[in-house]
This record gives sequence, structure tokens and C-alpha cells, in this order.
Amino acid sequence: MKKGITTVTAPKLKSRPPVVVVVGHIDHGKSTLLDYIRQTTMAKNEAGPPRREAGGITQRVSAYEVKHRGQDGEEKTITFLDTPGHAAFSSLRERSTKIADLAIVVVSAEEGVKAQTLEALTVVTSTGLPYLVAINKIDRPNSSVDRTKQSLAENNILVEGYGGTIPWVAISAKTGQGITELLELILLMAELAELTTTPSAVAQGFILEATRDPRVGIITTLIIKNGTLQSGDFLTTGTIIGRIKKLENFLGQPVDQLQASSPAVVLGLPTMPEAGAVFVSTKDKKTAETITESISEILLNNSPTNNFAEGVTIIPLILKADNVGSLEALTKEVKKLGTETVALSIINSSIGQITENDVKLGLGTSPALIVGFNIRVEKSATELAEKHGVMIKTFDIIYHLSEWLTEEITRRTPVSEV
Ligand code: GDP
Repeated sequence: MKKGITTVTAPKLKSRPPVVVVVGHIDHGKSTLLDYIRQTTMAKNEAGPPRREAGGITQRVSAYEVKHRGQDGEEKTITFLDTPGHAAFSSLRERSTKIADLAIVVVSAEEGVKAQTLEALTVVTSTGLPYLVAINKIDRPNSSVDRTKQSLAENNILVEGYGGTIPWVAISAKTGQGITELLELILLMAELAELTTTPSAVAQGFILEATRDPRVGIITTLIIKNGTLQSGDFLTTGTIIGRIKKLENFLGQPVDQLQASSPAVVLGLPTMPEAGAVFVSTKDKKTAETITESISEILLNNSPTNNFAEGVTIIPLILKADNVGSLEALTKEVKKLGTETVALSIINSSIGQITENDVKLGLGTSPALIVGFNIRVEKSATELAEKHGVMIKTFDIIYHLSEWLTEEITRRTPVSEV
């Protein structure tokens, strides 16, 4: 046994399915592809094609899940963002690359690269979103896969086997040719991306769309990117707070809870949230109310990763800051720290005071360090933290915070036994 060393266990991470967005030039086949996948894979599902339960709150959800058997024989889930009216969604393009984990760039094998193909690629590459190219309409007589690859190369998009490394697949969204390969490629890329979630955490994610129904009120479709969303949770976008009165999955079936990467339909927000807004769930109204400023995408930029080498001591961190800019600076700083034997893992970060809920979250994933910047700690949080030995530290100078974390890292660096 090593003495004098507190080794905290890693937060419980689970892999999660990829969330995929389809982009490309108008008429190159995005909707046809999404419809084809939705229809064929749903029909194969045990549950059969989507059947709405009586009293289901919406007709069609702007995201869906499919199951596909990977090459290892295991059935895996993929979530597709099926955004109605791509034009409307284009204003969200930047956001959509944050919402998604992977992109499919659809290029017609008849037309090759067009203006919106490049526009979509610019957004995808600038945000660092992994993507693959689907060369579509290969059933058409005037199509040419080679000519399309050449057109891509002329625009510096070098696919595999054509001078580059970008994965690609030739498909027909009409006949279904190549779609199995496409799904396999997505699963492969998702595996490489090592997408994870902390199931014990409260949910974070994005609002996909919202509609007002005269009967039931505001119907909101979300995509969960981390944690677990439960019926009865409070939901906040930073400006709108509501309690989830009803939670449904993408098939319109009532459920008690949903996990990361799942689309969710909720009833309970008092006013219309903005499409693309970030949401977080909380267990109590008070915590939801502390998140008053708009919540940054940062929340999702730092989703936990599990690619730590074995034997590395992981210090789970919960970051809290007064505003988006501070949180961003804090996140950047934390990411610079860590050694070969001790790593920092941000399990959650948000804006607002340190609350009891943060402490509970820290407890759930092993004793985490809760670090605040320019914010106060609620009395109840201090009490709970003291009771359970959770460490809370607040700072108003980033440099001091880095210094302190560096000391913590040193303190937790295992000393070889003599
Ligand atoms: P979007 O604007 O990118 O969503 O394009 P759509 O999915 O609406 O497709 C535009 C047109 O191309 C429609 O008439 C589709 O039926 C047709 N289309 C899309 N994919 C294919 C394909 O693989 N083969 C053929 N023959 N037609 C396709």
C-alpha cells in the first residue's frame, strides 16, 4: 500500500452512440438519405416502424435513432439529426456541428462539389468535426464516382485512395446501395472518436426545436449529449426554466429517463426556447435558477474523455464560473495541466454559484474537486461538502487557480515505494 496518497477513482464513464448530422448542397440527396435510413432501419427494428402512442405529444421528431449491427456483430445505435427544412437549419450550421459528433457530407456524383458543399465543409472542418463524404446518386446514368473524387480534390478535399485520408463511401439514397457500408463507416469513426457520457451526471445537451401546441403547450425536442435526463427534472436554457411534465423518446413513447445521444421530447417549458440553445437539467428548481446567464457551448466542449492510460490517477473536476468567457478561460487552463501519472478530467462545468447539486454530482462520480471562479459557494453546498469531505476552492485570479491545481497534481503523484 502506498501511504499518504489519495487516489481518486475515475468518474464512471460509458461510451455513447454517435450523433450524426447530414450536410451538403441542396438537392444532393440529404433528405432522401435520411428518409431511406429512417424507413429501412426502423422497419427492421423489433418495435417496428415508428408508431405513436395514443396521446403522443408530437408527430415527427427532428432526430431519430437506428440500430445497426457492427462488423463485430454487436448491435449499435446511431442518432441522426433529421432537421426539417434544411434551409432553416442552415442558420444553425455552426451549432449543428457542436450538436453532432460526426458529419456526413453528401455530394452528388452527377454534379460534384458545389457552393453549399464547400460552405458546409468550411463549417465542419473549422469546428474540427470528424466527417465522411457520401458520394450519392450513383444509380444515375450520368454519375461518376471518379469525377466526383476529382471535383473534391480540386477543392482540396482529398479522400482515401485519392491522395488523402478523408473516409468516403459511394451510395444511392434511392436504391439503398452502399448504405450498409455508410452505417458501418459511421460506427467505425464513432469508435475512433471515443464518445463518452457520465450516466450519473445531470443531463446537458441542445434544443433542436420547439413548437407551440394549443392543447398541451410548448413541445420541445432536445438532444442529450451527456448525463441522464429524467422525467420530473428541471430544465433550463439559462433564460427559460421549466419542469419536465412529460418525457418521450423519439418514437413518441413515454419514458422515465433517457441517456446521452438520445433525442427527447419534453413538455413543461413555459415559453419557446431557441433552436440550438444549450440546456442543462437539474434536480431542483433552486439550482436551475442559479443558472441565469446564457449557458455556453463550452458545457459540451469538455465532455469527459476516457482515453487515459491505465494506471493514471484521475482527478475529477467540476468547474463553475461567473460567465461564459471565464468558463472558457478556465477550461483552457485546466486542459494544459496534468502529468503522465495524474490527469485532470472535467466532469461538469457550468455558470453560476456552487450549489448543493454540484457537490452531489461530485459525490456521484467519486470525490471530485469543485473549483469556482469569481463566484460564491452556497452555504448548503459548503455544509454538504464538509460532511462528505469534498474539496471546494474558489479563486478570482486564474493564475492562482492553476498554481493550486498544479500543487494538487503534485500532491497526488504516486511516490514509488522504497
Ligand atoms: P436535399 O436538398 O439535399 O435534401 O436533396 P433531396 O433529398 O431532396 O433530393 C433531391 C432530389 O434528388 C430528389 O428528387 C431525390 O429523389 C433525388 N435523389 C436523391 N438521392 C438520390 C439518389 O441516390 N438517386 C437518385 N436517382 N435520385 C436521388
